[in-house]
Amino acid sequence: MTGEALSFGRVAAALDRYAGSTVEELAHAVRVGGSCGWVETTGEVPEWTGEDRADRRLAAPVCAACPVQAACLEWQLREGCEVLGVWGPLDEDAFRGVFACWVERRGRHGGGGR
Ligand code: SF4
Repeated sequence: MTGEALSFGRVAAALDRYAGSTVEELAHAVRVGGSCGWVETTGEVPEWTGEDRADRRLAAPVCAACPVQAACLEWQLREGCEVLGVWGPLDEDAFRGVFACWVERRGRHGGGGR
């Protein structure tokens, strides 16, 4: 296993605390605490380019400071390896790496309260 794969595994392992959470609970945490919601409220949304990779770079600083990153990532993993728009705590390659480790740990739907 490479060092990168190990760190994907660590990220996936840290999400085990959400194994018993429902999708509704995760969605609620993101809606209430997600930084992306707050920038929309304050009008500080980045000037989107319409190009996914560029727009994900614009969103990255917002996600980096987000207090519910882990719940957001767990929610996205539950959605089946579909990155939700340009927002997200990981870039696409890292997301897919964590997804592989997450499925290996908990199965395709993440166990717990789906
Ligand atoms: S990690 Fe990013 S996409 Fe997820 S809730 Fe936070 S700001 Fe929004």
